[in-house]
Amino acid sequence: MRRVYFDHSATTPVHPEVASIMCEYLKEHFGNPTSLHYFGRKVRKDVEAARETVARAIGADPSEIVFTSGGTESDNMAIHGVAYANKNRGNHIITSAVEHHAVLNTVKALGKEGFSVTILPVDKHGLVSVEDVASAINDKTILITIMHANNEVGTIQPIAEIGKLARERKIIFHTDAVQSFGKIPVNVDELGVDLLSISGHKIYGPKGIGALYIRKGTRWRQTLFHGGAQERLRRAGTENVPGIIGLGKAVELAMAEMESESARLRQLTDRLIAEVTRLPYVELTGHPEKRLPGHASFVFRFIEGESMLLSLDMKGVAASSGSACTSGSLEPSHVLLAMGIPHEVAHGSIRITMGRDNTMEDIDYFLEVMPPIVERLRAMSPLDQETEFAMNSDCAACKVSASCSKVQP
Ligand code: PLP
Repeated sequence: MRRVYFDHSATTPVHPEVASIMCEYLKEHFGNPTSLHYFGRKVRKDVEAARETVARAIGADPSEIVFTSGGTESDNMAIHGVAYANKNRGNHIITSAVEHHAVLNTVKALGKEGFSVTILPVDKHGLVSVEDVASAINDKTILITIMHANNEVGTIQPIAEIGKLARERKIIFHTDAVQSFGKIPVNVDELGVDLLSISGHKIYGPKGIGALYIRKGTRWRQTLFHGGAQERLRRAGTENVPGIIGLGKAVELAMAEMESESARLRQLTDRLIAEVTRLPYVELTGHPEKRLPGHASFVFRFIEGESMLLSLDMKGVAASSGSACTSGSLEPSHVLLAMGIPHEVAHGSIRITMGRDNTMEDIDYFLEVMPPIVERLRAMSPLDQETEFAMNSDCAACKVSASCSKVQP
């Protein structure tokens, strides 16, 4: 059976060149970078070269990069570090309703510790409004944390505009660039961010490695671990050398391929979106243009996303419903709900995220196997479809708008 991997936003396969170089650091170059002998010095030099590669890719200085265990740790470290270091200046944090849980739950936890939190709404495409950010700022605001691109719907936020505002108002600004980095240009000065999170396993690197950019001079303090002086006292613990080397290689490859790969993925995505949205009662979620290359997400009415996933899996197609962290739970995605998509419609969400191994033949295969699955699942749907379909058959909006109140059972 043909196997098609369409879940690159959950994780990517490790690039063969990444796997190969990592093996060298598991087998031969096993030294501890803190050691003064040859084995230590060799890996120290290579870890610093990887740091430089990561820094260069986002327009930063190597001293501003801290290696972490991934996007979740980077987000936690950024938010806690700024909140605790600036407690005497204020206690207000601004974020958005569509953040990954690594941000949302961290901010909510701070809310329980006495910080005041504003969670901004988004529009129907998942976009945060810059005006909303401006009006949420008060004299106690110490941090704005808004993601660069959304993991569930691919929407790209106006980070440069929010960055400009944050700079004018002298507020520290963090962005979670876990989904955007490696797919679209990410430059810390152009975006105007003070802290930025990235993760290795979303860009064909290994799992369990990531980085946090902290702009020089940012009021931030180490909050996670007590221990050694690694990472300039910003992250204690012996460095994950194979992971760091793998991340460095993944970043190097992503930068070399980004432009051509994004253009290729946009072609695949455009075709997929055009064909899928031709089907009745299917709608694209996220912004039609301001979205990540390779990212296509939909809601299929009268279908459970999980049932569709399982049926697709039986045909060899690996997709996802919402984010990998929330699929399997009965709660619909907080992102789709924040975009105003009704509860029952949000249950029918499917995310297709393409990557470097996908081809137009994969799209053809998906377009061949998906419609009969949709037909079968709709025929089995417990919803009173005859009434629903009859009620809405004349309503053009029902084919395109997920927020049509007439369709709600
Ligand atoms: N932030 C976003 C936007 C993500 O999509 C993810 C992972 O799905 C994370 C953070 C967490 O990253 P990691 O899996 O490296 O902890």
